[in-house]
Amino acid sequence: MTATRTFVEAASPHVMNTYGRLPIALSHGQGCRVWDVNGKCYLDALGGIAVNTLGHNHPQLVPALQDQIGKIIHSCNYYHVPNQEALAKKLVELSGMTNVFFCSTGLEANEAALKLARKFGHDKGIDRPEIVVYEKAFHGRSIATLSATSNPKIQAGFGPLVEGFIRVPLNDIAALKAATQDNPNVVAVFFEAIQGEGGVNPMDLDYLRELRTLCDERHWLMMIDEVQCGMGRTGKWFAHQWAGIVPDVMPLAKGLGSGVPVGAVVAGPKAAHIFQPGNHGTTFGGNPLATRAGVETIRIMEEDNLLDNAATVGTYLKKGLETALSAELVSGAVKEIRGLGLMLGIDLSKPCGVLTQRAADAGLLISVTADSVVRLVPPLILTKVEADEIVALLCPLISALLKETP
Ligand SMILES: *Cc1c(COP(=O)(O)O)cnc(C)c1O
Repeated sequence: MTATRTFVEAASPHVMNTYGRLPIALSHGQGCRVWDVNGKCYLDALGGIAVNTLGHNHPQLVPALQDQIGKIIHSCNYYHVPNQEALAKKLVELSGMTNVFFCSTGLEANEAALKLARKFGHDKGIDRPEIVVYEKAFHGRSIATLSATSNPKIQAGFGPLVEGFIRVPLNDIAALKAATQDNPNVVAVFFEAIQGEGGVNPMDLDYLRELRTLCDERHWLMMIDEVQCGMGRTGKWFAHQWAGIVPDVMPLAKGLGSGVPVGAVVAGPKAAHIFQPGNHGTTFGGNPLATRAGVETIRIMEEDNLLDNAATVGTYLKKGLETALSAELVSGAVKEIRGLGLMLGIDLSKPCGVLTQRAADAGLLISVTADSVVRLVPPLILTKVEADEIVALLCPLISALLKETP
């Protein structure tokens, strides 16, 4: 038995068994590399699930966080938090929206968005507001956000679900119109610009534009969950910006603090003043350390042109994957390689969960979503050389798996 195995067995009895974990414990990282407790090195194409925007041990982020920790980590929302103001100002500037609520995680940001939508309805005299959500959506694991999610595996065992959701297929404006026809209780549409957990499924840009118009006509809030696809990952600050639209509500989290938990709900004029004192709050939300992490992450992204890097290296990586898997794409064994920037999904014709362990054995961290989609969401500092390395490590494993008889 290796030392890793011993570590895992020794560590597991007291932590609840909620994750299908690999028998790996990471100890430290540098850039896009991480090392486990046994000293094995991995190329990190997962980035802590789209969280480690700046990779690991970033030479500018670390001293900034150390500085903040030495001053004040947490104050509380009874007082003004200057770092919140600084981060809010930046998010408003980047999004074209107007006001921000801070929290700590993605589900919390989505929970706040759902509360905003309901209160938007109540303020208009709608007693039983309904919210349009989508097939294959993932919005989190709280009772409300798992109800908005469309994965029966995530919902099973936790009923009764929260009511007031209408589910529609992706990219089908006629289906949306039919599902909401003559329904005066609809207050919002809520969706990911590019679905993450559902298998890296982008919304069509034309659909987003039509939806913007529809939301305006019907006075619905357009609420775009950018928790995974936002914060520069696709090569724009927010994935919906590829369509040239501005939403009314935008939850953020994952990549916002480059590893420090911080979430936000950004709101435009239609939604910015719905919450009044006492309507919503959270103890940790926007604390000085969390919001400093957000401010510094954005500052470094701007200084180092990481949006351009995500777009350029992402396109390069996608091309590399397409070339290496060209035979499999022709035969249909690989159904599609999709996504934008450094948010890519390789959709295989069969389940591929075993690839996470096989890739780790080969020195590469990846994830598999929706059973058969390999997901790559590496740090936005990824270089072309590292992209080549991902292709070289991953594609032979994919080809081999596809040749195996089930
Ligand atoms: C991860 C994710 C969430 C949930 O975020 P948590 O921080 O895990 O609560 C919500 N929406 C999307 C699109 C996500 O990818």
